[in-house]
Amino acid sequence: MRGAAARDGANATPAPPARIAKRAAPQMMRQYELVERVKKYNPSTNEDLLNRAYVYAMKAHGEQKRASGDPYFSHPLEVAAILTGLNVDDATIVAALLHDTIEDTEATRAEIDRMFGGDIGALVEGLTKLKRLDLVSREAKQAENLRKLLLAIAADVRVLLIKLADRLHNMRTLDYVPPEARRRAAEETADIYAPLAGRIGMHEMREELEGLAFPQLNPEACAVISERLATLAARDRDLIAEIERQLTRKLSDRGIATFVEGRRKQPYSVWRKMERKALGFEQLSDIVGFRVVVPTLAECYQALGVVHTTWPVVPGRFKDYISTPKQNDYRSIHTTVIGPGNQRVELQIRTQEMHEIAEYGIAAHANYKDGADASPDTLSRESKAYAWLRHTIEHLADGSNPEEFLEHTKLELFHDQVFCFTPKGTLIALPRGATPIDFAYAVHTDIGNHTVGCKINGKIAPLLSELENGDEVEILTSKALLAPPAAWESLVVSGKARAAIRRATRAAVRNQYAGLGRRIVERLCGRAKREYSDERLTGALPRLARASIEDVFAAVGRGEIKASDTVRAMYPDFKEERATLAAAGLPEGRWQGLKRARAVKVKVPALSDAAPAIPIRGINSDLPVRFAPEGGAVPGDRIVGILSPGEGITIYPIHSPALMAFEDAPERWLDLRWDIDDKTPQRFPAQVLIESVNEPGTLAQIAQVIAENDANIDNIRMTRLSPDFTSLTINLEVYDIKHLTAIIAQLRAKPFVANATRHNG
Ligand code: MN
Repeated sequence: MRGAAARDGANATPAPPARIAKRAAPQMMRQYELVERVKKYNPSTNEDLLNRAYVYAMKAHGEQKRASGDPYFSHPLEVAAILTGLNVDDATIVAALLHDTIEDTEATRAEIDRMFGGDIGALVEGLTKLKRLDLVSREAKQAENLRKLLLAIAADVRVLLIKLADRLHNMRTLDYVPPEARRRAAEETADIYAPLAGRIGMHEMREELEGLAFPQLNPEACAVISERLATLAARDRDLIAEIERQLTRKLSDRGIATFVEGRRKQPYSVWRKMERKALGFEQLSDIVGFRVVVPTLAECYQALGVVHTTWPVVPGRFKDYISTPKQNDYRSIHTTVIGPGNQRVELQIRTQEMHEIAEYGIAAHANYKDGADASPDTLSRESKAYAWLRHTIEHLADGSNPEEFLEHTKLELFHDQVFCFTPKGTLIALPRGATPIDFAYAVHTDIGNHTVGCKINGKIAPLLSELENGDEVEILTSKALLAPPAAWESLVVSGKARAAIRRATRAAVRNQYAGLGRRIVERLCGRAKREYSDERLTGALPRLARASIEDVFAAVGRGEIKASDTVRAMYPDFKEERATLAAAGLPEGRWQGLKRARAVKVKVPALSDAAPAIPIRGINSDLPVRFAPEGGAVPGDRIVGILSPGEGITIYPIHSPALMAFEDAPERWLDLRWDIDDKTPQRFPAQVLIESVNEPGTLAQIAQVIAENDANIDNIRMTRLSPDFTSLTINLEVYDIKHLTAIIAQLRAKPFVANATRHNG
C-alpha cells in the first residue's frame, strides 16, 4: 500500500465535521445573517438572489402566524438556515425560503418562475406537491409506499433535502401544536421522514428527528430509557474518556493520526433495539460506540490491526463494510473488543470521507455551486455528485435485504410507479401509465368489475385517463354492471387488473351461456310435457359426464351438448317432436307470404310456450349474441335466436328467409324479445336495397337522407344493373323499425329512387 506518501498528505488529525445548523436564539434570524452563513461555504453566492427571495417570502407570508405566535416567515427562514449547515446551493436556499408560498399565500408558480427562474419554480412546486400529502391520513403499513412516493415526487434530491429540513424545523417547534396533531406529526416522522433520512445516509438528521418524535410517541419509554442512559453516562464518564485516550494513544504510537469519539446510543435507537430483539435494557451491551476516524483507507486496516492486537476480540461482531459497502454507500469497519475496565467496546473505523457520508449522506456530496460561474472542473465534480445522488436514490426503494432489492428491480423501481390515493387517504401504488380502471382493481376486484366512472381530484374524468402521482381517485360503481367490458383487458396496464378482467369476462360469458342453456332445457322439457327439476338433472350428471348442472347448462348454451340429449339423460324415454307452424303461433300473414314467395313449406319450432323469452339488449361483444349478418334486426321486429355451437346466438327477424336453414334443428331455436332502455338509445343493424337511376350525385343524396335521419351507414355495396340503373345494398344502423320505415319512405320519395325496400338476409 502507498502508506507514507498518502499519510504525509493527510497529516493533520481529522476534525469533527460541521453539524446540521441548530439555533437556540429566540429572535428571528436577520437577512444578512442568512447571507453570511451561505457565503461562509459558498463565497460566490448570488447575494441579490437570496435577498430577493427573503423579501419576497416575507411579504408573501405577511401577517401569517405560526402556532407559537411567531411570524410565519420565521419557519421558512429557519428551514433555509438548517440547510446552510448542509452546504447546499443557492437554488436550494431560495426554494427553502419560498417552500410554503404557493400552498399558503397568493404566490403562484408562474410568478416564482418569472422572478427566480424555472429551476427554483420546479423545486417549490415539488414541495407544494409533497405538502398536499401531509393532509392525507396515513397508516403505518403505508409508510414504505409513502417514502417511495416522496422519492418519486422529489425527483430532484434538493426537494427531498428541503422537505427533511422543513420537517425537522416543524418537529423542533412541536410544543405549540395541539396534542393530537403533535402525535400524528411524531408518527409520520418516525415512520416516514426519519427512516428516509437514514436511507439517504443522513444519520444525524435521522437521530434528531427520532429524538424529537420519541417523547411524543411513547413518553414513558422515552423517560425511562433517557434516565437510564443518563445514569450510565454519569457512571461511565471517566471510562469513556479513558477508552478514548487509550485508543488515541495506541494508534498514534503506530503513527496513525486519529480522531476518536465516544458516542452514546440515542434513546430511540436503544428502544427500537429492545423492541426488535426483545431484549431488556441490561442485555444491551453496546450503549456506547466509538468512532475511529483516520486519514486513509489503508490506515483503517492498520488501525483495525492495532485494536485487535491490543484487546481481545468479541467473536462474531466483525463486519467489513469497506470492502462490501452497504447499499446506501455506507462504508466502515465494525468490530467489538473487550477494552479497558473489562468493558465491551464497539468500534467503527473509517476515513474522514466515509465518516461524512455516514453522517450526512447525500448532503456530504451536495457541495453544489451555481451553474453560472462554475468552472468546468466544478461542473464535472458536480455532475459526479449528482450521478452519485441518482445512484443512491435508485437504491432507496430496496430496503435492506437482497430479495426485496430484486423485487423492486423487477418493478424497475418507483420511477415506473405512480402513487394515488383513495378518497379516504389509502395509498395505492400502480405501474406508471395506470388508468382509473387499474386503480379500481387495485382497491378491490369487486370495485373494478362494477366500475362505471371516476373522479380524479374531485372532477369527473375519463376512465382511460393516465393517473399522476398524488392524484386522488374516486371510483363510481354500479351493481347493474354485471361484467367489465372485455376491451378493458387491453387498455389496463396492471397485471392484476388484466387478470381480473379476463376472469370476470370469462365468468360473465359462461354465466350467459349457462343461463341460456337453462332456458333451452327448461323449455324443451315444457314442450315435451316433462317436468324439469334441478334434482332430476343432478341425477343425470353422470350420464352427461359433467360435474355440475351449471356445467351442463353452459355446454348446452355453447352448443356442445344438445338440449334433447340433456332431456333424454333425465327422461330416457324422451323422443324429440317436431313443432309446426300453427303451434308456433307466429304472425301468420308474414309467413304465408314468405311461403308463397319461396314456394317452400316452412316448419318452425314452437315459440309460444310458457318459458319466458330471453331479453335482448343491444349487442355487446361480451355476450354470445350477434345479429343476422345479412339483414340484421331492429326493435319492433319479432325476433328469434339460433344457437350455433361455440358461437352463441344469432338473432334473426322472424321473417328472415335465412331461418329456413334451421328448420330441422328445433332445439337450436330460441324465443327472444327486445329489452330496450329508452334512456340510452342504441342503433341496430338493418339492410336496405335501393334501385336508383344513374345520375351524378345520387349516392351523396341517399347518404344525406340517411344522415339527416340520424342513422349510421355501415357499408354500401353497388351493383350496376344496366347503363341506367344501379342497385345499392346499404347496411345501416337505426333505432327501431319506425325509424327504418321512415327512412325508406323518404328514400322512395326521391325522384332518382326507383325502389327502396328493406332487405331480409
Ligand atoms: Mn413548511
